[in-house]
Amino acid sequence: MYSMSFWEKESVLDRIDVLIVGSGIVGLCSAIALKKNNPKLRVVVADRGFLPYGASTRNAGFACFGSISELLDDLSRESEQEVANRVERRWKGLKKLRALLGDEAIGFENNGGFELFTASDRLVFEKCIESLPRMNNMMLEITGKKEIYSLQNDKVSRFGFKHVESLIANSEEGQIHTGNMMVSLMRKAISEGVIILNGIDIERLEDHPNHTEAICASGLHIKARKTLVATNGFAKKLLSELEVEPARAQVLITSPLESLPFQGIFHYDLGYYYFRNIGNRILFGGGRNLAFEEEHTTSFGLTETIQNRLDELLHTVIIPGTTYEVEMRWSGIMGMGGSKSPIIKKTGNNTYCAVRMGGMGIAIGALVGEEAARMIDE
Ligand SMILES: Cc1cc2nc3c(=O)[nH]c(=O)nc-3n(C[C@H](O)[C@H](O)[C@H](O)COP(=O)(O)OP(=O)(O)OC[C@H]3O[C@@H](n4cnc5c(N)ncnc54)[C@H](O)[C@@H]3O)c2cc1C
Repeated sequence: MYSMSFWEKESVLDRIDVLIVGSGIVGLCSAIALKKNNPKLRVVVADRGFLPYGASTRNAGFACFGSISELLDDLSRESEQEVANRVERRWKGLKKLRALLGDEAIGFENNGGFELFTASDRLVFEKCIESLPRMNNMMLEITGKKEIYSLQNDKVSRFGFKHVESLIANSEEGQIHTGNMMVSLMRKAISEGVIILNGIDIERLEDHPNHTEAICASGLHIKARKTLVATNGFAKKLLSELEVEPARAQVLITSPLESLPFQGIFHYDLGYYYFRNIGNRILFGGGRNLAFEEEHTTSFGLTETIQNRLDELLHTVIIPGTTYEVEMRWSGIMGMGGSKSPIIKKTGNNTYCAVRMGGMGIAIGALVGEEAARMIDE
């Protein structure tokens, strides 16, 4: 059982106004927004990892808001207004993140986004082309920018891809340096007076009429006036009623190539695979569709099925004929659900949550953080 000192109690663990569980992009953005609204609050962010250990330091760093085939697929189930609202939230979220930390700090580059279509995607591609004017109008309303989507087939051979027939570009998508973004976010939070505690594995939350109590694996009990659960794919451990499921995503990164003919972010096989350049390296991930059941897990790890497929696609489609080495492989855990919208709600007398970011936490994290802070402040 952990026994705290007088000093720890006085300066950190006593009189906590808001405890935030999870120091990913959502937890930190919520903490920053709370302190900005009310600098006097004692806001403590607790994470079980020595760094955030979920998705925020392990993602691909796409600053994206919607590939055309994804939006068309959404439109087959949802109204135009619903789809436009979601895209608008991603667009606004990215702007907020960039304004909060600055483009230089997060390594933002606007190299564009591209969707690749192969022969087997021909039907989808034809629908996308048919819908280009409609999608561009929708984007014009949201972003004020004209002709965001365009057909750029000339780039297929320039980029060196094989088995790719067509390319639709999105001129407004970009990429960030995920590691630098998270380090700046931690710095920003600390500079606003947020206390970040690592190595705090919270096993259970108690919601009392006037306070909350977090029971940690170490035996420590942390009392707070209010608690926000921002644990995304792991949310069910603390709030079992939430409709959020873990989804593992695996990626690899190559060592720097002598030359790389493309820059930007790329969606392949209707978004099941994604790759981008980082300097002359390629970060490549996806393939959850090969084993949805196996990837429905909160355990980090790699599988041969998915990693072999990533290797194969690098060889045959992305950089055919190029010699490369894979320098690192890793996985992260996302939070998914039946709906693509995040869950931002009050879950008890003094307990709240902001979870289920899907594959778009970079895009919406800053916005969700602000919304969660507003909800807690009410
Ligand atoms: C491989 C991969 C690629 C991705 N690519 C992109 C992309 O290109 N663009 C994009 O927009 N999004 C992408 N995403 C999704 C994005 O990273 C996530 O949506 C986002 O990071 C979620 O942030 P979060 O703060 O909600 O959760 P997380 O970053 O997962 O943070 C949750 C935190 O809660 C902590 N925690 C969990 N349980 C407990 C507990 N019981 N006690 C204490 N702490 C706990 C964890 O340690 C973790 O740090 C990707 C995700 C992955 C895995």
